[in-house]
Amino acid sequence: MHYYLQLFARTLVAMALIASSFSVVATASEVQTPAAEIAMWAQQSGVYRYRLGDFEITALSDGTVPLDVHVLLQGVNKKSIDGHLHHAFLNNPVEESVNAFVIDTGKRLVLVDTGAGDLFGPGAGGKLIANLRAAGYEPSQIDDVLLTHVHTDHSGGLIHNGKIVFSNAVIHVGKPDVDLFLNSANQDGVNGYPKEYFEQATACLTPYIKTAQLQPFSGPTQILPGIRSIPTSGHTPGHSFYRIESKGESITFIGDLVHVESMQFEKPKITIQFDVNQAEAAKQRIKQFSILSKSRGLVAGAHFPFPGIGHIGSNNDGAFRFIPVNYRNR
Ligand SMILES: [Zn+2]
Ligand SMILES: [Zn+2]
Repeated sequence: MHYYLQLFARTLVAMALIASSFSVVATASEVQTPAAEIAMWAQQSGVYRYRLGDFEITALSDGTVPLDVHVLLQGVNKKSIDGHLHHAFLNNPVEESVNAFVIDTGKRLVLVDTGAGDLFGPGAGGKLIANLRAAGYEPSQIDDVLLTHVHTDHSGGLIHNGKIVFSNAVIHVGKPDVDLFLNSANQDGVNGYPKEYFEQATACLTPYIKTAQLQPFSGPTQILPGIRSIPTSGHTPGHSFYRIESKGESITFIGDLVHVESMQFEKPKITIQFDVNQAEAAKQRIKQFSILSKSRGLVAGAHFPFPGIGHIGSNNDGAFRFIPVNYRNR
């Protein structure tokens, strides 16, 4: 039954792709979708496809988690936070999306980040694999995993019950993150940075070191044809963007450059407890906002509201804004 559902989901995705590639507009009477199938689609809202030049991007939701911004945000007082939240029609804790992205290059299937896996516990993240399958892919089909950095909500999905999930993938990650988080001397935590980060990173990456699947890179690197890494240290020392350019368009996967969209665009100096280097993280955010807003290319964020794809605009007064991508469904 389970296999049938997967096959069925894949067939629907394939049908949708065929329809879109031939610009076919099917009328409701031609399709006559039974109510039961509509219900199944309604449960698959964690998948969003986007074409960029020769590449196909699929945003996948790993779920959402509550973020206590009163505790976590730095460089801003509670009154100011509450003002921002009120303005954005949000409440503390803020529901935080955890997004991952599949890139189909035509030759390889590439996954950017892997969600939290089992590590945030039941009901918090861990939905990536179900959504990957709903999009028509098996974990064994992934050829490359690009980690923006090794924090748990990005590398946690690499393992399930301690075992490798992506059996055929090369795992690419900035070497400075491996050097920091897997260093045996740091496993009790360093400079007040909690030991869980080190333990979880070690648990997620070590199985892939044993199978020689882990391939750390240093500096700007051409990872695959059309996909390059851009080092953006601050949030973590090895934090990296991945940028695709194709047929005059671009998309940059910006990982954790932003955690709270409703605040950090307007006030980019606001940092979060998870930043390994607070000052560098704020500086890097302002620098990259400026570059990305001028480039007018797309960005994809790990924690923007799903599907997490859009543009960065500049307000020319030191503030920026996020404009979600215009929805397309044809
Ligand atoms: Zn992070
Ligand atoms: Zn994150």
